[in-house]
Amino acid sequence: MTSIDEFRARARAWLEQHAKPFDEAAGFDLEGGSVPLEESKRFQKALWEAGFAGITWPKEYGGQGLGAAELIAFNEEAADFELPTGPFTIGLGMPGPTILELGTEEQKRRYLPPLLRGDEIWCQLFSEPGAGSDVASLQTTATRTETGWLINGQKVWTSGAQFSDFGAIIARTDPTVAKHRGITMFIVDMRHPGVTVRPLVVATGHAPFNEVFFDDVEVPADAVIGEVGEGWGAAVVMLRNERVTIGAGGRARSNPLGFDSLAELARARGLDTDPAVRRRLAVLYARESALGAYGRVLHEETTAGLQIGARGSAAKLAGAELALWAADLAQDILGADLALGAADLERVVMAIVAAPGGAVAGGTNEIQRNIVGERVLGLAKDPGVDRNTPFDQLKLSR
Ligand SMILES: Cc1cc2nc3c(=O)[nH]c(=O)nc-3n(C[C@H](O)[C@H](O)[C@H](O)COP(=O)(O)OP(=O)(O)OC[C@H]3O[C@@H](n4cnc5c(N)ncnc54)[C@H](O)[C@@H]3O)c2cc1C
Repeated sequence: MTSIDEFRARARAWLEQHAKPFDEAAGFDLEGGSVPLEESKRFQKALWEAGFAGITWPKEYGGQGLGAAELIAFNEEAADFELPTGPFTIGLGMPGPTILELGTEEQKRRYLPPLLRGDEIWCQLFSEPGAGSDVASLQTTATRTETGWLINGQKVWTSGAQFSDFGAIIARTDPTVAKHRGITMFIVDMRHPGVTVRPLVVATGHAPFNEVFFDDVEVPADAVIGEVGEGWGAAVVMLRNERVTIGAGGRARSNPLGFDSLAELARARGLDTDPAVRRRLAVLYARESALGAYGRVLHEETTAGLQIGARGSAAKLAGAELALWAADLAQDILGADLALGAADLERVVMAIVAAPGGAVAGGTNEIQRNIVGERVLGLAKDPGVDRNTPFDQLKLSR
């Protein structure tokens, strides 16, 4: 038995003892909202104590110091279970890796262990009402004070802000230079009295994300992630991590739009002998397997310290397109059952409703196509007419 096999067996045994097995008929906890936050925190702590949180992160920051092979083995085993770790997805997938890459030694020691231990939750504060795809047009400002910075402005679509302790925010620190250059990334305390969080209710009836308002929110000088004025580069690092986290999934029994779930739905309706359905299920299996293999390569390269560059965008795009494609297949398999609202279909119905959101979150499909076209395939660049104009001379509605 190799050390990876041993790790896998240990993970399986721990999950069997501590996690709920995946249950097709259970309601779908789309945003992690139906599990009490304290239970999520307890589970994340138990995961960390057992040596399965921060698998590839260095030991000195609370991680396990292991490789991509262990991470992949754990993820494959975990796919059969319901892990109530949703509130930690953003922190562990985006701000965490960004602090690991760009943060100061103090930031790494202060923020990474409590995140892995489930003590602190993070959100990502990028999008604004006038700055989504073109996030470099952001208008939230951070102005210098004697002790640090004062943040004012508004963010929107901030997932999980309602229960977050900290946020990674990008704000404009110099309006006199071109829009990509005058931005800085900060760590902001979401409990500061100047932070107001208002929920936004979506089509599923849940409120997974929020509007967040900043009124004279003070942050200390050592809250800067990376360098002052280099926030665009820090944002690119975070978006790269986000796209791998979202896109590089692969096959999981717990995915309501995955092959296992849809094959089961087809079987239950006697459609597994229909040649057209069988062909589409086979395509789903092939696309899911290919995406899983691509995701494993990206995880291995990231763990080995290689720059995956814009290929994370290709994974994110493929994952979002596959979810939309699988949502169509699910609707065709369910037919009229979809309208009847049976309780045992809640999981798949919620996933169908949520699939279009996946083509927007973390950058829309069009934006990913632009990135893949320009940076992976080497096609001509978007002219970017406002690229070199100082931000304060741009015609924006302010
Ligand atoms: C489920 C979900 C969770 C999210 N969570 C967060 C979060 O936690 N934190 C956060 O900061 N943000 C979050 N977002 C916001 C998300 O990042 C933005 O919605 C996204 O970047 C698009 O911005 P927008 O909504 O302003 O659309 P716009 O940028 O206004 O785009 C509108 C349309 O125009 C197209 N378009 C725009 N520019 C171009 C172009 N150059 N070429 C071709 N087409 C273009 C877009 O593809 C889209 O179809 C979340 C969004 C969703 C759906």
